[in-house]
Amino acid sequence: MLRLKRGRERARVHPWIFKGEVADVAGAEQGGVVTVVDAGSHFVGRGYYNPRPALCCRIVTRANEPLDEAFFRRRLAAAVALRSAGNTPTLARLVWSEADGLPGLVIDRYGPVAVMQCFTLGMTRARLLVARALRTVVGDLAIFNRDEPTPARLEGFDPVVGWLDQAGPDSVVVKEGPAKFAVTFGAGQKTGVYLDQRDNRRLAASLARDRDVLDVFAYEAGFACHALLGGARHALCVESSPDALAAARANLEVNGVAERCELRGANAFDELRRLERERARFELVVLDPPPFARGRDTVEAALRGYKEINLRAMRLLERGGRLLTFSCSHHVSEAVFEDVCREAAADVGVTLRLLAPLTQAADHPVLLGVPETRYLKGLLLEAVS
Ligand code: SAH
Repeated sequence: MLRLKRGRERARVHPWIFKGEVADVAGAEQGGVVTVVDAGSHFVGRGYYNPRPALCCRIVTRANEPLDEAFFRRRLAAAVALRSAGNTPTLARLVWSEADGLPGLVIDRYGPVAVMQCFTLGMTRARLLVARALRTVVGDLAIFNRDEPTPARLEGFDPVVGWLDQAGPDSVVVKEGPAKFAVTFGAGQKTGVYLDQRDNRRLAASLARDRDVLDVFAYEAGFACHALLGGARHALCVESSPDALAAARANLEVNGVAERCELRGANAFDELRRLERERARFELVVLDPPPFARGRDTVEAALRGYKEINLRAMRLLERGGRLLTFSCSHHVSEAVFEDVCREAAADVGVTLRLLAPLTQAADHPVLLGVPETRYLKGLLLEAVS
């Protein structure tokens, strides 16, 4: 039993409980299920408990029910139903943690394979229940575990990377609209593809005809592949990870667009400066950096980073050109990100028209009461003059 302090009952609307909000805990073990009550002993919910990190409990249910296989089956069925208009999607995020009522769990589907990530000790203990429930809901998928090292360290468990039980294919080729991406399980970043950018890659394709494209922080050339398939004249990808560059080359070849693309292994900050010195110009620029702010304490430095890359990208933009610029730091709000871009435009002296705000794909749903579930923000800007 975990009792909240009087007046610290945010857990009624938000699933996260920090140690400072806890009055006392009795009979709860690390990684186990705990019943949460308020100061007056009224039931609040049930979640996984771990006294090691500051975020010591995430409420999984607000009903008085066991967290058993049937529970996971209900939650997973609801998550799949949310994403399927009639049929089950085969390339999609099936579970997005808190937003699907399953805090600490991410499941992405790549055709015959589900890639599963556990972010809490409690969820790692539930791994087999989740897997059984998942197979009941979506059929007999091969399941690949891909836990991230940072949360594992915080929570105190060994991150698991590998097949859960029966092995699946080493790699698959998935289709995202007209584009094909090769996904090798256990290689690459995240679960393989940045699925959250799917709609924005399609948008880039629709803007690319006859344009020269710059794809900065390109990862495996997802934006560039789409832009080239959409009729772009040429694309230049900038990416610092050699593994990502090797995968990018393979993706460009699979899509038959490799001869119209140049890959540069470089630090984006340096390369943007160099392109500026060379007076290079582009008609479509994508800036999709990693999260510069990983915590509140790094926001200031992050904003300087965002301003610098946006400023340089704006200098490279032809008049009439389009810039798709993103931030995936959830500590940087839409409003603050927009301010940074406004300041960068003012410094460069360019007039930009905001054609559309951009966000994460719909299979990364957002809970209004949990702002952390919305992290990807972007702007589609046009250089007017
Ligand atoms: N746009 C991609 C996802 C980008 S993720 C897509 O749609 O798939 C961010 C990428 O930036 C990662 O691949 C990471 O390796 C790369 N990266 C991080 N820091 C960098 C830097 N300083 N210079 C260049 N690339 C960097």
